[in-house]
Amino acid sequence: MSASSFLKALKAEGLTVVQVGDWRDHNRNHKGPWGPVHGVMIHHTVTKGSARTVDICRKGYEGLPGPLCHGVVTKDGKVHLVGYGRANHAGLGDDDVLRAVIAEKALPRDNEANTDGNRHFYGFECENLGDGDDPWPAAQLEAIERAAAAVCRHHGWNERSVIGHLEWQPGKVDPRGFTMTSMRNRIRDRLK
Ligand SMILES: [Zn+2]
Repeated sequence: MSASSFLKALKAEGLTVVQVGDWRDHNRNHKGPWGPVHGVMIHHTVTKGSARTVDICRKGYEGLPGPLCHGVVTKDGKVHLVGYGRANHAGLGDDDVLRAVIAEKALPRDNEANTDGNRHFYGFECENLGDGDDPWPAAQLEAIERAAAAVCRHHGWNERSVIGHLEWQPGKVDPRGFTMTSMRNRIRDRLK
């Protein structure tokens, strides 16, 4: 979908959206393909402080240039748009997982890193230290649910099109602090 449709879909799902800088044209399209899109990926940032978190996700850091996702979900439940198009969030993951996402079937274990995920997934980075102790406020979890549902609704996908980074790439642990099964159940109920 276009950047404008993305923005519209998020707002229609009841989200408070903050547009950051030139997010519509901020991407890594010059480094590789974007699309066809097949799903939504959820991450945690391992950062503290909303302003700093949004800034890092927009600019990236040494060795990993931004944008690091499309939307940043901060603890207050706002969604900050930092990029649109190819973004550095998913890395290499498992082609069997991608096939399951496309078919909206149960996920196999991610045991291969052979497929470019930045091409195929929308990415939402969520402000959390990822240490298992840092809380996930209700407003933030609801915003994750709404953001993922908004994208699914636009594409006609169900909740099985939403995965965690940990379900995509071997060795990844994000998001930590809630289960993707519980989040998918919420998204399923929202899409009813
Ligand atoms: Zn991640």
